[in-house]
Amino acid sequence: MSDTTDPAAEMQRLIDADWLQIDGGRLLHHATITHIEPDYETEWHGVRLDCGQRVEWACIPGILTRIGARRCAACCEINSYPTGKGSPINEHVCRAMIEAYETAIRERDMALEMHKIQFERANRIEAERDALRVELERPLLEGDDE
Ligand SMILES: [Zn+2]
Repeated sequence: MSDTTDPAAEMQRLIDADWLQIDGGRLLHHATITHIEPDYETEWHGVRLDCGQRVEWACIPGILTRIGARRCAACCEINSYPTGKGSPINEHVCRAMIEAYETAIRERDMALEMHKIQFERANRIEAERDALRVELERPLLEGDDE
């Protein structure tokens, strides 16, 4: 729900799809970026990769690297991807996993939204019932006063 409007979440989504390039771009790695750098839209300094390396610099790779570079085996294992070549979004097994994940997130968000609607409806019905009960009890209370 909020993921589409949160720039950090949107950037992480791009990283999840493309992975990151470090020196020379021979290997693609994955990382969860915890900070946005206002001056750099697609590169980061001081990044901890999923495979444990801490690098001074990482960026979203260019198209040739996204297609041609191998994925880091350790990052693949941690993310349950097969080893191989190309950004996850460019490789059919990984892409199917990304799409399944995004579908699950969408379904979760829809279920949450549905739950919220039902919760609000239940609250409204309860409030109406309480108001009705007060209304029904009022003549009796007034009758006691006389
Ligand atoms: Zn790695």
